Amino acid sequence: MPDNRRMPFATQRPIDPSGGKRGPTAVDFEELAYTIGLVGANEMAQHHTGKQLHESAEAVKLAVRAVLEMKKYLKELRIRSGMKLALARTPAESCAQRLAVCDLLSGEFGAKARMTVKGSMGEALKMLRKGERDVPVYYSNGTHVYVGARLPLVERMKIENKFFPILDGGNMFHVWLGEGDPDPESLLEMTKKISAKTQIGYFAYTRDLTVCENCGKVQGGVYKRCPNCGSASVRWWSRVTGYYQDVGGWNRGKKQEFQQRFRTGAGNLGIAT
Ligand SMILES: [Zn+2]
Repeated sequence: MPDNRRMPFATQRPIDPSGGKRGPTAVDFEELAYTIGLVGANEMAQHHTGKQLHESAEAVKLAVRAVLEMKKYLKELRIRSGMKLALARTPAESCAQRLAVCDLLSGEFGAKARMTVKGSMGEALKMLRKGERDVPVYYSNGTHVYVGARLPLVERMKIENKFFPILDGGNMFHVWLGEGDPDPESLLEMTKKISAKTQIGYFAYTRDLTVCENCGKVQGGVYKRCPNCGSASVRWWSRVTGYYQDVGGWNRGKKQEFQQRFRTGAGNLGIAT
């Protein structure tokens, strides 16, 4: 693979400044790990049990079992192929929408997908019939609970925390903050609780931002008009999955997810003290 010169950056061999000789290639392809990502554990469980992760312990059990089976199969594949493989939650901003769209369009799975795919189904189906593909539907990321589930944060934590030791990485616990100016003390308590009392290895607080294009003020929270100058010329910023972006640039599936996120009030994080 490195010999076909199609990846000049990865295959470059920089000159060692002290010896003047070329070193090994910048990327060692033999050492690369290949990640298999998963999307929609919640909808898989919903399809088989009729309930989503936040609705039934049986659904959670099934999802955990399925991921454990995937891990087992991954080990077989590792041995068979000799490749370094990992099972992880990948960001999948496009995939969460694309897989939902593919399933809805499929003759075999379309009817089943309609029962579990999240988002604005009626609108999406109309758009799909017109040939559009960027439509407001999605599968839940990785092993996440449905973003719109009206569940106290601690309850969601109890479910999502189970998947961290099984996955090889990339998994993330989201705290979508509902307040523009969350209370720092509550956040500190929350941070201590997540760090010390759960198996969650990676978590993020997301505070949505409204950026005014007229006066330039950046305000915490989502506003249709700038609270400072009243201008309707505002842009929203939030975390798409891994990092912050302008919501205006997201695909329609992710925009829909943004609208449906159940945000936690920082004064009501559900912390048992
Ligand atoms: Zn303004």
